[in-house]
Amino acid sequence: MALRNTRQLLTVKKNQIAYFSMEIGFRSDIPTYSGGLGVLAGDTLKSFADLGIDVVAVTLLNEKGYFKQNIDEWGYQREEYTSWPFEKELEKLDVTINVFIEGRIVKVSAWRYNLVGVKGKKVSIIFLDTNLEDNHDDDRGLTSHLYGGDNLYRLRQEIVLGIGGIKILRELGYNPRKYHMNEGHAAFLILELYRELHSLSDEKGVYEDEKKRILQELCSFTTHTPVAAGHDVFPNEMIEKQLGSVMPKYILDLVTRDGKFNMTLLALNYSSYVNAVARKHQEVSKRMFPEFHIHYITNGVHSTTWVSDRIAAVFDKHIIDWRVNPLELRNSYKIPLEELQSAHQKAKQDLFDYIKETQGVEFDTNIFTIGFARRATGYKRAELLFRNIDWLKHISRTVGKIQLVFAGKAHPHDDNGKHIIQHIINLSKELSPTVDIVFLENYNMDVSLKMVSGVDLWLNTPKRPLEASGTSGMKATHNGVPSLSIPDGWWVEGLIEGVTGWGIGQEIITEHDDNKIDEMDANDLYEKLEKQIVPLYYNDPMAYVTVMRNAIAINAAYFNTHRMVNQYLVGAYARNNKV
Ligand SMILES: *Cc1c(COP(=O)(O)O)cnc(C)c1O
Repeated sequence: MALRNTRQLLTVKKNQIAYFSMEIGFRSDIPTYSGGLGVLAGDTLKSFADLGIDVVAVTLLNEKGYFKQNIDEWGYQREEYTSWPFEKELEKLDVTINVFIEGRIVKVSAWRYNLVGVKGKKVSIIFLDTNLEDNHDDDRGLTSHLYGGDNLYRLRQEIVLGIGGIKILRELGYNPRKYHMNEGHAAFLILELYRELHSLSDEKGVYEDEKKRILQELCSFTTHTPVAAGHDVFPNEMIEKQLGSVMPKYILDLVTRDGKFNMTLLALNYSSYVNAVARKHQEVSKRMFPEFHIHYITNGVHSTTWVSDRIAAVFDKHIIDWRVNPLELRNSYKIPLEELQSAHQKAKQDLFDYIKETQGVEFDTNIFTIGFARRATGYKRAELLFRNIDWLKHISRTVGKIQLVFAGKAHPHDDNGKHIIQHIINLSKELSPTVDIVFLENYNMDVSLKMVSGVDLWLNTPKRPLEASGTSGMKATHNGVPSLSIPDGWWVEGLIEGVTGWGIGQEIITEHDDNKIDEMDANDLYEKLEKQIVPLYYNDPMAYVTVMRNAIAINAAYFNTHRMVNQYLVGAYARNNKV
């Protein structure tokens, strides 16, 4: 039987996972990431390498990276685009394949970077590159800019990532048993697997249902955003023009809604295992896609990447094996409070040295310091803390002085986001010297580590339920920095009130008016600061350090990528996943 042959071919797989992601952030100076999604991908691959799991990753070269952020004299974001020295950092591979875009041949070549785990195991990251002489000028730039250009540019990039990625893997001799799509950007890989399946069957009349079942066994999918606009869709005509006969009619009909081709639906239909990135996010995703079974695997961060040197020295002394097995961080109760406090003060000094050096501003390590850093965009509500400036000043004047450190980029096309940054910078002039505020330029992984380890409290104020997971709070928790956050995303699971940090408002709210929600949340935020957090910090420092230590023992021990990839192995990558 033809089909049995096909099945045989498909089941003789090496025990290998292919991990596809549009962005991967694994080193601060390699700007192939824009934010949370990319850093998560990098952290995940580092844990795979540490644990010796056989994984190969595929992404785009992103030759010009994401942009460098400069703030001009009016507090307005300016973007600077520069290439990164990828020829020096990556190894050129001797492979080229063709993909078809708008009927043209586009040649794709590849570069490799090997991540080395704690025990010396390697995970290769394959970077796809279309900047080749033979290519049409338009196509040469397809792997230049991460999230640059328009919808057509994005579609073409996704063709290169999905279809080009599979073809390159084949050229390099890879034959993985699972393909993981980290977000829907990579879902075109299904088209290439579908084509392979078709060409492998001696009998062409394999039913679509059967093909679907076979492909589902090969694919798993992680969805990352509860924001409807975050799911890629392309007008049907654009898909037909760009992909032509590469797009099977059956699939086109299956995943088109209201004339738009939906990448998330493509991935959902052809994956045996689909997951959201936090328990709360699972609920939200199920409501968005009720016809699919959606699991959850809550995100984590890579522990040795996200613990500052100061805190790592304390862990090395008291927690056996934490670098190999971060679940051991549960033993943080053995760390003497004074040692944790003193290591934290050093990390705080390191951050303040950086602030002095880059901003020329002198911050005082004896003053309670709050950090906030995320992409400047509406739903993250960076300005919530300033809703009632008089109240904020009152706390700083009468309860205990407050300093604030902000950072974050706005997407180049997001003027609203740029105005949020400008507003915060203007406020820093207005509020000084009652509340000192500094905005650090060019938020990246290095700045992030300095901030999450150097402040006393990590603030996160997203609009519910739009924070899929959030990971910067997990980085903070790894450094003993508790969060004050809206119970959304990971914080629904991580928050034990007054023990691991503090919540703002309730998880479930019945109010629908955005303005009223902001008002309620801001009031609760000020109440918590005024009545609980600031007094605890100044009047009972050891009780504050106890919360810091709880944050490590209870939350860092759990919200790490080692725990997370283990869950992917038994869930998403299980051998006999059936829908
Ligand atoms: C961790 C990180 C993020 C993601 O943080 P969230 O809390 O998920 O918003 C974004 N950008 C950089 C540079 C990071 O290091």
